[in-house]
Amino acid sequence: MSKLEPAQPVLVLSPHLDDAVLSCGYFLYANPSTTVVTVLAGAPEIFHEGYNSKTTGKPYAPDAISVRRDEDRKAVEYLGATPVWLDLLDADYGEYRPPRDYVDVIHDEIARVLDETRPASIFAPLGLMHSDHLAVSDACIELAVNSPVAWYLYMDLPYGLANRRVLLKRLAKLSQHVQLVEFDSFDGEHGIKERAVRLYASQYDPTRRNFRKSFDATMRGGERFWRVETLS
Ligand SMILES: [Zn+2]
Repeated sequence: MSKLEPAQPVLVLSPHLDDAVLSCGYFLYANPSTTVVTVLAGAPEIFHEGYNSKTTGKPYAPDAISVRRDEDRKAVEYLGATPVWLDLLDADYGEYRPPRDYVDVIHDEIARVLDETRPASIFAPLGLMHSDHLAVSDACIELAVNSPVAWYLYMDLPYGLANRRVLLKRLAKLSQHVQLVEFDSFDGEHGIKERAVRLYASQYDPTRRNFRKSFDATMRGGERFWRVETLS
């Protein structure tokens, strides 16, 4: 395996407001000036009782997402990157999505952003365990095939450390469509990632509670990356 040294500028696609930092925190810190685009960072104008409202204590969905965007700004900027938020809806607001296949909606929106920002390297989630992660990953794989830009996948954390079977299954599935070239795993200065993730004040405890062992391992490192190559 070789060392991960992507061409600059780098853009990282994050399904939710915390995934890029959880999955790539050490990488972001080592690659300052990266743009972190959170894809599902929108809110319908409704009062809601789902995950976002529960974890933030804000019943009005736009207020809940505003809390989460503020946390994201702090954490992403702490690591030297710049946050961008798209107004698409996460699965918590699934009933308010348009009837169109949401992978197609995500695909078109990401294509538009990439056209505007023109990064040299793009990082997307492998797509583990959560339907939103899978949808963003599937949209990205479509965009990556035959793309002139370098595409990479990152292992969704803590999911990839929590369930090895799901990781291997997804890698096998993707290998039918693209070739994946793996890099050395990525670690960094101890404590940096923990400090960044703690800035997601509404998310730290709920995420850690659900994945205690793999969450703690995520804080220590173990970030994994693959380059996407079109099958010849
Ligand atoms: Zn997520």
